Amino acid sequence: MREIGIYVHVPFCVQKCAYCDFVSYADKIELSQQYIKEVKKEISAKRNEINEEIQVKTIYIGGGTPSYIKSALMVDLINHIRKEFVVKPDAEITIEANPGSITQPKLKDYMSVGINRLSMGLQTTDNKLLNRLGRVHTYNRFLESYLLARQMRNEKCKYRFNDRYTWSNNRNITGYN
Ligand code: SF4
Repeated sequence: MREIGIYVHVPFCVQKCAYCDFVSYADKIELSQQYIKEVKKEISAKRNEINEEIQVKTIYIGGGTPSYIKSALMVDLINHIRKEFVVKPDAEITIEANPGSITQPKLKDYMSVGINRLSMGLQTTDNKLLNRLGRVHTYNRFLESYLLARQMRNEKCKYRFNDRYTWSNNRNITGYN
């Protein structure tokens, strides 16, 4: 049986960063519900085009800032993918998040549908540079989100929650590995 990966782009952001070449829009969050509805239609249409048995090995929700939209929409999206496709039990399911855009209820919603990997970027630990880059968060805000994600992962729940962070400065800036 062929294994596939699914990528879904969520093009909404709080504001546009100065260096950003991704397809993403600020101040269009009101379109997010309609957008997810259309994405679900496209997923179903693509599924109907495939005439072979397939399994989903990875799902990657990128952006944009997928964690900016309501987590109920993300739950709806992942459930729809699970309805249309066979998702492997050990599939890696990732969501990109911006520091400051995740909360405990959001993370719980993500985990409830099997999202097991969080990708959160930090371009620099220098707040002045973050500001110049147009980032909406500070280094402290990143640390709060990072620690929240770690705390959630360590809770006694049956879901695994991995963390992976990318940054161009020191890898051990948080003191956590
Ligand atoms: S948060 Fe990411 S996708 Fe959004 S504008 Fe900034 S760099 Fe681009």
